[in-house]
Amino acid sequence: MTLFILSIVLQLVALYFLLDFLTGIVHWWMDRYGREDMPIVGRAIIEINTWHHENPRKMTTRSYWYLCKTGWVGVGCMWLVVVLLTGHLPWQWLFIGVLGANANIVHQWAHKFPNEKPKVINWLQKHRILQRPHDHAQHHTRPETRAYCTYTPWLNPILDRIGFWFAIENFLSLFKIYTTDRIDA
Ligand SMILES: [Zn+2]
Ligand SMILES: [Zn+2]
Repeated sequence: MTLFILSIVLQLVALYFLLDFLTGIVHWWMDRYGREDMPIVGRAIIEINTWHHENPRKMTTRSYWYLCKTGWVGVGCMWLVVVLLTGHLPWQWLFIGVLGANANIVHQWAHKFPNEKPKVINWLQKHRILQRPHDHAQHHTRPETRAYCTYTPWLNPILDRIGFWFAIENFLSLFKIYTTDRIDA
């Protein structure tokens, strides 16, 4: 029984960090490779991402549905694929899906002042279970090429220190896939 509980706890922690990493991947791709003229995603997510960078605090006035609808569509498609392939939906997919669909709300909390969010959120941020405003502020500090993960404060310092995102960009440039701020010479 103890081993079973330990295994669940370890999985929850691992999935939580995996989720943080996934938010980083999606966010990094949107910031560095997303273009507003791309089909479907251009209007659905890249445009929203662009205005967020122009005016980060504006997201605090947006509704739940406005911020999370694309996340729920993505998660719904992911769950559908899992069910079609395996015939069931393991709890791990449910856990990561529900948290992932709400990633923009966690991001929004990182832009809110303490008196604009529930006390429990301030507590979760203070205890570094969720990303704190000053952690996320690093992302909105020029050149805005670090701290892409938006769930926890733990992965960003490691990924930035090892130059993870620039390493992937350099690797992709070998295949002539460049970030939107580079010129294809
Ligand atoms: Zn960004
Ligand atoms: Zn932000």
